[in-house]
Amino acid sequence: MINVTKTYLPDVEKFKQYVDKIFDSGWITNNGQMVKELEKRLKEYLGVKHIILVSNGTLALQVAYKLLDLTGEVITTPFSFVATTSSLVWEGLKPVFVDIDSDTFCLDYNKLEEKITRNTSAILPVHVFGNGCEVEEIDKIAQKYDLKVIYDAAHAFGVKYKGESILNYGDVSVLSFHATKVFHTIEGGALIINEDQLYDKARKLINFGITGPDTIDGIGINAKMNEFQAAMGLCVLDDIENIIKGRQKVYENYLNEFSGINQIKLQVINKNCTQNYSYFPIVVSSEKVLLKIKEKLEANNIYPRRYFYPSLNTLSYVDEYEANNSYNISNNILCLPIYYNLELEQQQKIIKIIKENV
Ligand SMILES: *Cc1c(COP(=O)(O)O)cnc(C)c1O
Repeated sequence: MINVTKTYLPDVEKFKQYVDKIFDSGWITNNGQMVKELEKRLKEYLGVKHIILVSNGTLALQVAYKLLDLTGEVITTPFSFVATTSSLVWEGLKPVFVDIDSDTFCLDYNKLEEKITRNTSAILPVHVFGNGCEVEEIDKIAQKYDLKVIYDAAHAFGVKYKGESILNYGDVSVLSFHATKVFHTIEGGALIINEDQLYDKARKLINFGITGPDTIDGIGINAKMNEFQAAMGLCVLDDIENIIKGRQKVYENYLNEFSGINQIKLQVINKNCTQNYSYFPIVVSSEKVLLKIKEKLEANNIYPRRYFYPSLNTLSYVDEYEANNSYNISNNILCLPIYYNLELEQQQKIIKIIKENV
């Protein structure tokens, strides 16, 4: 069986050594040695000033909204994983959707300004499939209207914009380290924050607002990462170069095979960005064609995924907004299997089935 992704499992003996250390220390959560070590190593690897590890990416988003005191409306994209929108609604905020660019699949910054009202407090774009947004244009608009910017960077681990981490843009960037992502800690996530004071405040927020043995400074939540998650992260981080290299090989083979095929539209990558090869989406001419391809692949035990489907502006719990690009792409997009050790022979079978049915 071939799935859209395969969780990377590091050397089990190495993981056991970390587990032994955790047992020796008796310290299994609450900002322990493993979490501290992983934060230090990730800061270096990613090239960011501050990082706070948390238990998952969705909580990282929720903490970011509280951290920046968001209220009212937040402008976001309908083309993302459901958590981008559901976390807003969960926190009592109103998602206002701006359509995506049909080439990059990222929020179309040209359509941003017309959605800004007196009630807008922030912009929440997504680096879709690791493809960086036009961060300079978005930041310009945010500054003009005094809005906060949170980037849902769940897919953008290690991505650079003009040679520097893309995670340094905006007030906060949020990462997900779920088992299906390029880099993972089983479940997990992180907040990337530039400003020192915000960073200090976020530290409190993820731990109930506790600042000392007998002091509580404001409201907080429990979003802490535990030591076993961090141990997994340390093991996976050792191998990250190979993971990305393996994915790149698969990605480039797909790219090579599908370039120039008129019936298949590929994502246009931001020229200023590097890639982490986390996804390989194809957009076909109709939903009918998509379902046919999916059926044929599944008959061969190959399971691509309809990422992202449905378009989030059609969710039952949001207000109606038009977003035709997102709607059309959602209906016709398929993310193909891609992971570090997908065998060439298997990949050629996938490519053949698609070419025959497109
Ligand atoms: C995975 C993902 C999330 C949620 O992260 P979890 O760690 O699964 O909670 C949020 N946004 C996007 C775009 C994602 O892909």
